[in-house]
Amino acid sequence: MGRWILHVDMDAFFAAVEQLDNPGLRGQPVIVGGLGPRGVVSTASYEARAFGVRSAMPMAKARRLCPQAAFLPPRFDRYEELAGRVREILSSYSPLVEPISLDEAFLDLTGTERLHGPLERVAAEIHRRIPAELGLPCSVGLAPNKLLAKLASEAAKPGGLHIVREEEVEGFLAPLPVDRLWGIGPQTTRRLAERGVHTVGDLRQVDASLLCSWFGPNAGAYLWRLARGVDDSPVVAVREAKSISQEVTYPEDLYREEAIAQELRRLALAVAGRLAEEGLLATTVRVKIRWSDFTTRTRQVRLPEPTDHPVLIADEAVVLWRRGEGHGEKGVRLLGVGLAGLVPATFRPLHLFASPRLTEAIHEVRSRYGPSSLSLGLDKGQEAR
Ligand SMILES: [Mg+2]
Repeated sequence: MGRWILHVDMDAFFAAVEQLDNPGLRGQPVIVGGLGPRGVVSTASYEARAFGVRSAMPMAKARRLCPQAAFLPPRFDRYEELAGRVREILSSYSPLVEPISLDEAFLDLTGTERLHGPLERVAAEIHRRIPAELGLPCSVGLAPNKLLAKLASEAAKPGGLHIVREEEVEGFLAPLPVDRLWGIGPQTTRRLAERGVHTVGDLRQVDASLLCSWFGPNAGAYLWRLARGVDDSPVVAVREAKSISQEVTYPEDLYREEAIAQELRRLALAVAGRLAEEGLLATTVRVKIRWSDFTTRTRQVRLPEPTDHPVLIADEAVVLWRRGEGHGEKGVRLLGVGLAGLVPATFRPLHLFASPRLTEAIHEVRSRYGPSSLSLGLDKGQEAR
């Protein structure tokens, strides 16, 4: 029996929530993101996209392109609340809900026909219920696997429903540019283009043996499967309350700023390593500080996008520490770094500040030489204790 996977993608989610909560913004360009000098756009409403504003664009550029837009900082608590309501709707159809980010989720509907009726009708019902109950637009794709379901919801944007049946897979994929398939990055796209392969249809014409001679046996076989829309990856329901943290109580209190920062970086590397081992990304970084008088503070920050990037996580931990009140005479007795809001790393989002190569290199060095083999951003000789 074939599988049926549904993918829901909320349209311009953060901006749509702002327009929902402030009717004066409806029909207006709205840009949500970091408003500081180095900020980037998280989400632009469709009205702002008409001016060329895109996600991940520097905010300064967005301001030039669309100065009349409403520029707003993200309100993650509110987005999370609404994302939770989307998940509630989805989980009334199947327990297998896999949230990918605040605005996207997969739902495995395989075998639920007897309970809910024909799945094409279920998809239509979900597509109608989300905007009706939340007041927010969404796009929905239904297909035999995750790869195709995600491509189907992309094809449905904005606001549509697109179903790809088994017999439609070839025709659906053929006209798409190859870089729409996940795992095909700019470099592979360029190498394929040099060989006259631009669309998935072109890719399907290439023999498996030829693909393997171009890209090696593993990547070649992978591309061959992608071209046929083959994807066996399961929908994995995530335990939401999960978090990863590590803390250390020091035999002697820490006083020096550099020593504290270095310890936070070391802890951040350790938790980032565990995050990567579990195949997860974090959306929240927490720092715990216990002073010599046993007062304890926890500070946390929501990241603009989920990450497992050790440098980003370490930087956030140090910023959280520095943002706190002055500590006067008190020493630091305990430090902890925690990661929460964990989502599966199925779709690695664009890292806006650093390259995934760097992350891989850091994880590799750490797994080979141990957790203390690498420290970040500090000169040798600055020892923690
Ligand atoms: Mg979206």
